[in-house]
Amino acid sequence: MIWNEIESASRKDIENLQLKRLKETVKRVFTLTPFYTDKFNEMNLKVSDIKNLDDIRKLPFTTKKDLRANYPFGLFTVPMSEVVRVHSSSGTTGKPTVVGYTKADMDVWDEVMARVFTMAGASKEDIVHNGYGYGLFTGGLGFHNGAEKIGATIIPASGGMTDRQLMLMRDFGATILAATPTFSLHMAEVAKRVGDDYLKDYKLKAGIFGAEPTSAGLKQEVKDAWGIDYHEVYGLSEIIGPGVASSCKESDLLHVFEDHFLFEIIDSETGEAMPDGERGELVITSLTKEALPLLRYRTGDITSITKEPCKCGRTLQRMESIVGRADDMLIISGVNVYPSQIEHVIAHTKGVTLNYQIIVDKKGHLDKLEIHVEVTDDIMSDSLGEMAIIKKNIQGALLNYLYINANVVLVQPRSIARSEGKAVRIIDKRKENV
Ligand SMILES: [Zn+2]
Repeated sequence: MIWNEIESASRKDIENLQLKRLKETVKRVFTLTPFYTDKFNEMNLKVSDIKNLDDIRKLPFTTKKDLRANYPFGLFTVPMSEVVRVHSSSGTTGKPTVVGYTKADMDVWDEVMARVFTMAGASKEDIVHNGYGYGLFTGGLGFHNGAEKIGATIIPASGGMTDRQLMLMRDFGATILAATPTFSLHMAEVAKRVGDDYLKDYKLKAGIFGAEPTSAGLKQEVKDAWGIDYHEVYGLSEIIGPGVASSCKESDLLHVFEDHFLFEIIDSETGEAMPDGERGELVITSLTKEALPLLRYRTGDITSITKEPCKCGRTLQRMESIVGRADDMLIISGVNVYPSQIEHVIAHTKGVTLNYQIIVDKKGHLDKLEIHVEVTDDIMSDSLGEMAIIKKNIQGALLNYLYINANVVLVQPRSIARSEGKAVRIIDKRKENV
């Protein structure tokens, strides 16, 4: 079943709609956002310069830095009285990326998430177990509203408490699982410990997975562990949250909801457009957002797109799973972390130096983060009590500001391996194991 007929509209109809909405969005941000007004004026660009879809390349890029520089609500195009919801991503010392939604934005979000569920074969007959975290993170509530929109029964389990979640999934007869792939694997592993037949007690038929980069191997592991269909969802809070694209039953590629989000693939070094089928950085322009419309948002995600027809009948173009990041962002248990954010925390801690090493590994199916930090010379000679306090301070700051659990290991001065005079910053053992 296809939720909305636009998903199978002709290319011409989709592109006409995109152009109409692009013009409206350009006019909106130029008129209502000083940030864009200034950019247009600097570039000597007029709203009327956008005559066709290719003219999008004349528009300025928007970056995460721009969102942070206009923290918290500087890029909103509506007064706060029109904003009904705010979400935010992790950030250092009170400077997260903040996004807002009007009532109409919420309707669009519910709509695209309804498409995601329908694509995964879900309907009002289904019971959806939602293991995405509820809160400022867009995952939990995004899935929640989409499931309600199609009339399914939603179980708002949120993250954590694996044993309890397994019990609820079994007892309530969940048929659809929404969670990160790693958490789903972890749940399967815990369930298996009870006994080989235990997994047969579940009624799951499909899962909708996202918020983490996913290798083909990991997908297969999740499919095998639960014996279910695997559907992937792509999204990011800056654009709307989950629900920017998702996969159908026919292939691993993800259909892009092009009537709301305009995709470009560019060479991240030169900014030039890449042809269909070739990999580059994904850049997204929102076409219907009211509270926070963004022009040419640099996602930093590396992928490719194709307009090849799909057997499911949808004509929406498709993207491949994200293959990497244009920068060095780490994704730890679904939370985006930049090494610079960790560095920021270390820099604000007394008794340690900026010689540190981030080691990411897997314990079972869960990501494990260890951070080695060299202490200053005078600390090393001091009491163990002081060391314990420093460790606690860093771990507490990482949890409070970046929402990550890390094991901080304080090491002797000059003990971390150097490469060309600098400490080797990141060791991602997960990559070595792929
Ligand atoms: Zn399809």
